[in-house]
Amino acid sequence: MSAPAPADCLFCRIVRGEIPAKVVFEDERLFAFEDVRPMAPVHFLIVPKAHFASLNEVPEGAGALLGEILFRAREIARKKGIGGTGYRIVLNTAGDAGQTVFHIHFHILGGRHLEWPPG
Ligand code: 5GP
Ligand code: ZN
Repeated sequence: MSAPAPADCLFCRIVRGEIPAKVVFEDERLFAFEDVRPMAPVHFLIVPKAHFASLNEVPEGAGALLGEILFRAREIARKKGIGGTGYRIVLNTAGDAGQTVFHIHFHILGGRHLEWPPG
């Protein structure tokens, strides 16, 4: 269902363990790791192991996978102690949103007050 991963996809390489990362969760379908440039006291990323360049490439049939990511994000946020204080889930998609890594990833940010609207 997912597109063949480009050999040099950064997040596919992290999932495969070719590039080190601070792993916070892994199962058969998902991989979560700390963002290397945290924008908040808590800032981790969740990706599906399957390669999709962005939300634009995810087929409607993969709805369960997207739902699973949200529930896993919630669970990890809870374990990191920000379930009650609050957190933000960000899915940057393509150019205007500032997507820089083209393997779909959800940011989970928390541990401080987050301004709204974003810049
Ligand atoms: P985007 O701007 O595409 O939504 O987010 C990409 C995120 O990936 C950024 O927050 C950036 O700090 C993070 N990132 C980029 N390269 C690496 C890396 O090699 N390791 C980790 N852990 N995070 C990375
Ligand atoms: Zn990839």
